[in-house]
Amino acid sequence: MQQQLNEIANKQRISAQGFAVDSKDSRFRPFTFSRHALGENDILIEILYAGICHSDIHSAREEWHKGIFPMVPGHEIAGKVVAVGSKVSKFKVGDYAGVGCMVNSCGECEACKRSQEQFCENGKCVFTYDCHDCFHDNEPTYGGYSNNIVVSEKFAVNVPQDAPLEKVAPLLCAGITTYSPIKFSNVKAGDKVAVAGFGGLGVMALKYAIKMGAEVSVFARNKNKEKEALELGAKALYTDTKGVSERFDFIISTIPTAYDVNAYAELLKFGGEMAIVGLPPADENLSIDLTRLVFAAGKKVYGSLIGGMKETQEMLDFSLKHKIYPETEIITGDRIDEAYEKLTSGQAKFRYVIDMKKTFGG
Ligand code: NDP
Ligand code: ZN
Repeated sequence: MQQQLNEIANKQRISAQGFAVDSKDSRFRPFTFSRHALGENDILIEILYAGICHSDIHSAREEWHKGIFPMVPGHEIAGKVVAVGSKVSKFKVGDYAGVGCMVNSCGECEACKRSQEQFCENGKCVFTYDCHDCFHDNEPTYGGYSNNIVVSEKFAVNVPQDAPLEKVAPLLCAGITTYSPIKFSNVKAGDKVAVAGFGGLGVMALKYAIKMGAEVSVFARNKNKEKEALELGAKALYTDTKGVSERFDFIISTIPTAYDVNAYAELLKFGGEMAIVGLPPADENLSIDLTRLVFAAGKKVYGSLIGGMKETQEMLDFSLKHKIYPETEIITGDRIDEAYEKLTSGQAKFRYVIDMKKTFGG
């Protein structure tokens, strides 16, 4: 980090090392690049852990839209603050910090003012990677599969010194993306909840819903993780919606592939709510059959996108207080391709987290 501190002292761009893909078909390779100079409201974080989210795979493989290459994915970041700009007030050197899916926004529109920066009405929400940074000459953003990141302090959350950082990283996306709709739909004690898709996000949804006092069932496409589901407190693990007689107050779908949305909506009670967070590839043409929806009337289906910065800090404090953590497997940066392969071929359990110190030394 001494090199980066010298660069800051000279008001220069900050050098970084990471892992990038050059196209949707390529494998990850070591990548040397630079980040914008430290602004007065920015902090420099030495990344210690970065989670691998399925969104990283969708992005790197251009399953949603054209990507910006070389691409350094990663939006589940936990690390140590190593430098702060002159106007920074939330952090000091040595603090721990977390960064999720966003690194900046306009701060002035209604959405930003109510801390739903992901919906910035001026179109200035800057995502952590695969995005053009309108606050820095539209340069591409590079994510967390790297040894450092420079971010506006408003887009970093405070992490206490005694927090298990490798568990904190996935909370920055998998945690907030499931916590937010569970709060929005007011999941409470006695509710019947279903979690569809039991991977990195699904396991967090299960844990939060149980903490709210709900009875939770899991839907997966096979029984591979039934033991884990039951051990973590699920009432049942179903492999099909057909033949399921129970009805749910709330369903959260984290499924990243094509599936029958109506079949889940039909499992809601009257007035029940289904939050969709899983984002299958664009060419899978997922649709909702309106006839079936209308005939299943009284059931609400909505989408949900991560969560704002205020709620992200709230989620982190809640998770640490109640020791609600992701299920993680720690890997080094040379195993990202292998992790992607496992996550897309049904061989993965829950969350892979890259240990940056082990990867880059130091
Ligand atoms: P994971 O790969 O960790 O988990 C997905 C799980 O879904 C796996 O367990 C997989 O099972 C299971 N699954 C796949 N297809 C089906 C199916 N047809 N029926 C039931 N289960 C199925 O992914 P993540 O949890 O990281 O992400 C999930 C989705 O959420 C992704 O699409 C991601 O892009 C999206 N996402 C959305 C966000 C938002 O803000 N809305 C934020 C973050 C992520 P198997 O092991 O058998 O493959
Ligand atoms: Zn994510």
